[in-house]
Amino acid sequence: TEKSMILASSAPPPPPPQFVLVPLIGQGHTIPMVDLAYLLVERGARVSLVTTPVNAARLQGVADRARRATLPLEIVELPFPPADDGLSPGSANVDNFLRLFLDLYRLAGPLEAYLRALPRRPNCIISDSCNPWTARVARSVGVPRLFFHVASCFYSLCKLKAATHGLLLHDGNKDDAYVEVPGMPVRVEVSKDTWSSSYTTPEWEAFVEDAREGMRTADGAVLNTFLGLEGQFVKCFEAALGKPVWALGPFFLNNRDEEAVATRGDKDKPSAVDQDAVTAWLDAMDESAVTYVSFGSLVRMPPEQLYEVGHGLEDSGKPFLWVVKESETASPEAREWLQALEARTAGRGLVVRGWVSQLAILSHRAIGGFVTHCGWNSLLESVAHGVPVVTWPHFGDQFLNEQLVVEVLGVGVPVRGAAGPVVPVVREHVERAVSELMGGGAVAHERRRKCKEFGERAHRAVAKGGSSHENLTQLLHSFVRSGSTEQQTTQDRNC
Ligand code: UDP
Repeated sequence: TEKSMILASSAPPPPPPQFVLVPLIGQGHTIPMVDLAYLLVERGARVSLVTTPVNAARLQGVADRARRATLPLEIVELPFPPADDGLSPGSANVDNFLRLFLDLYRLAGPLEAYLRALPRRPNCIISDSCNPWTARVARSVGVPRLFFHVASCFYSLCKLKAATHGLLLHDGNKDDAYVEVPGMPVRVEVSKDTWSSSYTTPEWEAFVEDAREGMRTADGAVLNTFLGLEGQFVKCFEAALGKPVWALGPFFLNNRDEEAVATRGDKDKPSAVDQDAVTAWLDAMDESAVTYVSFGSLVRMPPEQLYEVGHGLEDSGKPFLWVVKESETASPEAREWLQALEARTAGRGLVVRGWVSQLAILSHRAIGGFVTHCGWNSLLESVAHGVPVVTWPHFGDQFLNEQLVVEVLGVGVPVRGAAGPVVPVVREHVERAVSELMGGGAVAHERRRKCKEFGERAHRAVAKGGSSHENLTQLLHSFVRSGSTEQQTTQDRNC
């Protein structure tokens, strides 16, 4: 992508650009924002990450680490005014997404007050695309704003193209369960069932429209991806939006600090598992022999589903490291069942309960595959470490992310087999998919080779001279001089 830079005018050197980051609550959204904050400060910018009191308290470790390293990264706690309906401040939780998104609109006033009180107007706001209220704040204070979409570019582009072309996905017509998304650089057929099943109420539609407006009025977008993985989609997304799209990822590869990796996300919670014990167990395993199994921060499985996963892993005969949430083992039956499984698979199976350092696990040489729910962070973390995946999407963007890794990138085995209706996953599905992923043969070999290649490209992208590194250089330059993003966008005839 050709992006023109703003030319230097005169001495003295300008102060470093200041960015204000506004994440959404929830690990899947906050973790990459924190990674982005580190990325920006390590390249010379100043960063304030503003959030609710509850979330700020969870980020205490990040703030302390930045202070010790004398990095200009500040966690700013905004007051969270009580809602008219009596909801208490800080009650924002991720059980009801829409409620959470709308709760955060109450931060608009405090954010505006914070920005106006700063000694110098910040150069740029980067806000989660689920925080569209930041558009009005940015406009009112006169600060440029980029939106950050916590998803694959493939997903973002599909959504945008479907909206632009008025694709009918909620028409209730079950005869044509699959619809082609127009204007994509590759052929993409999406299932009406999985497109956005729960997002069809009038309240959701109003929110989605506000989020779209927030993207339309932004000065550009920041994505946690890289051109060597999603270049064709980034180009098209940029052309379709008509504004710069900065692919700066994988953000987390910048995270070389062992402590930062070990304490990423909810590590400060009491539910954190003993990571040293996990590493010691992995150290004793053969290279690329272990399947890592984890479903992100949100998915909760009922005991019957856990049993199917466990049986599938046992029947595959392959070594596995399986992370279950504490809340999933609330019942004595589930706890006993897992203990019995561990006894039967002793020596090759490890079940851990709580929060692990996923980056530390995925970068361990013993991991050869990952059974994932296809959250974008998890997929990117896996691919960047050259680890192919079994895809088991549950909701939202996860289904399109599965399509990207299976059909476009060729580094995933779908747990449910070929495309079709979303059937409940049973032990045979898990056993077959894990055996296929971890087994021998030309297809499995080729999948591993491709994934390794993407992993190498990911590392090259963030190294000096790589595409993500260069994009960040340009982004920073544009703000140092102008406080705005006056870049040319790509016009791609294929989009
Ligand atoms: N994660 C982690 N330890 C866990 C579970 C998750 O470090 O035990 C991290 C994972 O590395 C990723 C994030 O939490 O960065 C989950 O994001 P993702 O987009 O994969 O899924 P979500 O939780 O949003 O569904």
